[in-house]
Amino acid sequence: MSHEGIRIVSKEQDALEAEAERPLPRIAITPEKVRVLLTEGKGLEIDWADGHKSAWTFAWLRDACPCATCNEERKADGRKSGQPKPKPTELLPMYTPPAKPASAHAVGRYALQFNWLDGHSGGIYSWDYLRKNCQCRECTFAAAETPGVPN
Ligand SMILES: [Zn+2]
Ligand SMILES: [Zn+2]
Repeated sequence: MSHEGIRIVSKEQDALEAEAERPLPRIAITPEKVRVLLTEGKGLEIDWADGHKSAWTFAWLRDACPCATCNEERKADGRKSGQPKPKPTELLPMYTPPAKPASAHAVGRYALQFNWLDGHSGGIYSWDYLRKNCQCRECTFAAAETPGVPN
């Protein structure tokens, strides 16, 4: 009989991991109303069960595509979710229409998927991902304040 091999995680390590994960309460990631403003070409609006309201433009959503390919591209460029690719400097800049999906549909009960007009459709936008990337003033302000940068 031996009790070796039991992994002892320090309390600090535990706290760090909890901080990084920080699961949102279920009510914060339960959508009450989901509006995809396709015809208007505006974007996505969600009213959450906790009373919070979020909105994203299609351009933001396209640049925040959570599929593995887009994730890696962003990582390589050091871009955050929703941050557009740097525009290449061209002599004759080509007109690129703003990103818009041809359609959108629910994935189970937990996510939304867009079929973008550019043919891309690999990204599954979970409620959790969307809520964590809420673009309202309150949330973007909170996100900017959080990092422990001494000031
Ligand atoms: Zn993608
Ligand atoms: Zn918000």
